Amino acid sequence: MKTLIKNARIISPDIDINNASVQIEDKLITRIYLPDESLPHADSVIDVKGKMLLPGFIDIHVHGRSGYDFCDGTVEAIDNMARKKLEDGVTSFLGTTLTVSEAQLTATFHAAAEYAGRNDQASARITGVHLEGPFFNSKCVGAQNPEFLRLPDIGLVKRLHSIFPVKKVSYSIELEGALDFTRQLVDMGIMPSCAHSAAKYSDFKKVWALGLRHMTHFCNVMTPLHHLEVGLVGGGLLHKDVFIEMICDKIHLCPEMIQLLFEIKGTDKIMLVTDAMRAAGMSDGEYDIGGMTASVKNGCARLSSGVVAGSTLLYYRGLHNVHEITGLPLKELVKTTSWNQARSLGLERLGKIETGYIADIIICDNDFSPSLVFVDGRQVFVR
Ligand SMILES: [Zn+2]
Repeated sequence: MKTLIKNARIISPDIDINNASVQIEDKLITRIYLPDESLPHADSVIDVKGKMLLPGFIDIHVHGRSGYDFCDGTVEAIDNMARKKLEDGVTSFLGTTLTVSEAQLTATFHAAAEYAGRNDQASARITGVHLEGPFFNSKCVGAQNPEFLRLPDIGLVKRLHSIFPVKKVSYSIELEGALDFTRQLVDMGIMPSCAHSAAKYSDFKKVWALGLRHMTHFCNVMTPLHHLEVGLVGGGLLHKDVFIEMICDKIHLCPEMIQLLFEIKGTDKIMLVTDAMRAAGMSDGEYDIGGMTASVKNGCARLSSGVVAGSTLLYYRGLHNVHEITGLPLKELVKTTSWNQARSLGLERLGKIETGYIADIIICDNDFSPSLVFVDGRQVFVR
């Protein structure tokens, strides 16, 4: 089966070509045709009439969508999240956990394994799990449930990893045992990431030396930049090889901070995430988050204490915000929506429109809302 998507504006890292075409055979992109090349016969030809064609977005930090949370621990929850994420342009994601009990985490991992084992889904692909906690400093709990906090415990990570792959672990690097924990995560090929932390810059240097290269929702619930102690924000800015997650809903980071971070870190080290909770794609109201209640007003989720509790961001709107704020070329910005995630987490053959890559493709309108989505070369969403 050969499919040809023609008359597209192809945007991929360092590439922006009008009137080009992409050939898909089975799961792969097998050729790109430039505007002056003649096109071969194909079983299916889709004329996208000049619309943008991008690599599918990879959301490495997402808890929920459309009323469901990954930690509901059911196949139904993951299935609904994975289908609805297609509408936001997301073709791969890391199911992200909350700070909950081990029993609930175990149920969630079993559900993920069962879901990923099916091969009939018309949905975004779950490529693994991002464990957000439960290894957090009680002083930096944010909107995580304090009841289930614990010290870094590689045994727990190993038990869960044996059920379904853990790709990334977010934890407070200043906790007792965190250095050994970092070393063991690196040995297991799992990306360690700084999060929810009161760590000093000196703490950061120790985990960086052990191989930590990610920072979770940069600036949010971490030591800020101070002129006598640069903290974790200073560490992330100083170390050029560190990747940072950014929630670009204009609630978690103001527009000026988004602009500043793009100027300092550049598009090679930024990864846009949603950190969306279950209210994403839903109306305002009250929603459960890890056993607590968040009130959502005008799309902003907060606990009764006033603490922001995740986002309700739809992925493509984050790109829209960043494009508007930074004015950077799209062939640069698409690095932050899929390529950096794929290469830093070892998600092979994802994140580019290039021969030999997996055909995870979105066709977008000018506001980046997807009108057509392909996963594994198969059309899985049409608006
Ligand atoms: Zn989160």
